[in-house]
Amino acid sequence: MEGKLVIISAPSGAGKTTIVRHLLRNDDRLEFSISATTRKPRGTERNGIEYYFMTVDEFRKKIRNNSFVEWEEVYKDQYYGTLKSEIERIWSAGRSVLFDVDVKGGISLKKIFSGQAVSIFIMPPSVEELEKRLNARATDSPEKIRMRVEKAKEEIKLAESFDYIVVNDILEKAQDEVFRIVRDFLAS
Ligand code: ADP
Ligand code: 5GP
Repeated sequence: MEGKLVIISAPSGAGKTTIVRHLLRNDDRLEFSISATTRKPRGTERNGIEYYFMTVDEFRKKIRNNSFVEWEEVYKDQYYGTLKSEIERIWSAGRSVLFDVDVKGGISLKKIFSGQAVSIFIMPPSVEELEKRLNARATDSPEKIRMRVEKAKEEIKLAESFDYIVVNDILEKAQDEVFRIVRDFLAS
């Protein structure tokens, strides 16, 4: 059984996780696609809830077995990928798939699923504000934050490839805008 897909991408720190959680709380037709990753759990993250945490060897085996729809080395030695089995699991439950993926992954997924998918880019108000949010979140080392900010500058250049761009300045406004885009897409 095939269904619909909602793709949310943004530079790290733009507020994607916050907006995705809001969507999941407010629309029970959506279910989160749990990605596989080789990075270590952060804070209260649990295996099989936020991510399937695995070693690089396990991840490579899944690449060889063709288990991924898409995967990216998002940061050096940190792999992230969307499992085919997640999409099947969610569609067979009669729900639509919600992705939180990096910008390249979002563009790949939109290419693969085209009309079945809507893609939304969450834009930070500025690179300076993005850096502030990453520092305030305090979940990454200064070195990691620098890496994420550098990557963000490249990712922002790709925003035009998405169906919609939503600026996350006032959080409530951005959440509402994304909610409406998704609601209209699911009704179409
Ligand atoms: P991402 O998933 O894109 O990396 P998060 O959702 O973790 O981003 O948000 C990064 C940080 O910024 C979090 O601490 C979050 O609470 C905060 N944040 C999100 N949106 C806003 C906003 N509009 N204004 C201020 N802070 C925000
Ligand atoms: P974080 O480490 O902050 O959880 O995620 C880092 C980046 O990896 C984010 O931009 C997130 O959206 C992205 N990401 C998470 N899962 C996937 C995935 O399955 N595929 C791709 N391409 N990126 C992912």
